[in-house]
Amino acid sequence: MASSSQARCVFLGAPGAGKGTQAKRVAEGSGLTHLSTGDLLREEVKSGSELGVEAKGYMDAGKLVPDQLIIDMVKARITGEATANGESGLLASSGWILDGFPRTLPQAEALDTNLSGDNALTHVISFAVPEVALMGRLTGRRTCSKCGAIWHIEHKPTSKEGVCDQCGGELTQRSDDREEAIGKRLEVYRSQTAPLLAYYSDRGVLKEVDANRSPDVVFQELLTHMQ
Ligand code: AMP
Repeated sequence: MASSSQARCVFLGAPGAGKGTQAKRVAEGSGLTHLSTGDLLREEVKSGSELGVEAKGYMDAGKLVPDQLIIDMVKARITGEATANGESGLLASSGWILDGFPRTLPQAEALDTNLSGDNALTHVISFAVPEVALMGRLTGRRTCSKCGAIWHIEHKPTSKEGVCDQCGGELTQRSDDREEAIGKRLEVYRSQTAPLLAYYSDRGVLKEVDANRSPDVVFQELLTHMQ
């Protein structure tokens, strides 16, 4: 995937559409930096930071964390000013994938402001999955608490229940992958995130992928789009 290592992408889709799984896989194979706002927020929650404490209530309820908190968090990652462990910001890497950001029009506008000129987006990939399929994907999803690998109790089970095949870590269910929160998350996607499809289509960078297929098939198609 050498030619895509310069790509500056957004992966857009409803919860459970497979953005995170595919973003990890594409990043591993291409050297692109993968930035997931959901993962960043879960780290903040785990560490008990001020941002984490504030974000947790929204996340558990299936709501979006307020724009300004997210925009500040992402902006700091773009410029590199908030990376405590010495990583440089996205602008210093040759290509990257934003997974789960932007999710609202104000976030998309803020991103445009921070990524003008040579840093402008090259691809926005929309992961299309019918809503009926998303509920089962989300309720069955399990994540390794140690390495972050994503499994599914039916579609991608581990050989030993509750234990990660990759590293032996314990599998956990995300607190927002329970039915009560999932309904809200899907509604939030429809009302606040889906309008971004038109926003990016108007800018000529949008590609839609039928993500209601096996992860391997979706991955192969992604590679063709990202050339
Ligand atoms: P995800 O892992 O992408 O499904 O994100 C999990 C949760 O984190 C979401 O349901 C939101 O509560 C929050 N979150 C992640 N990204 C954003 C964002 N760009 N804007 C607002 N909230 C976000």
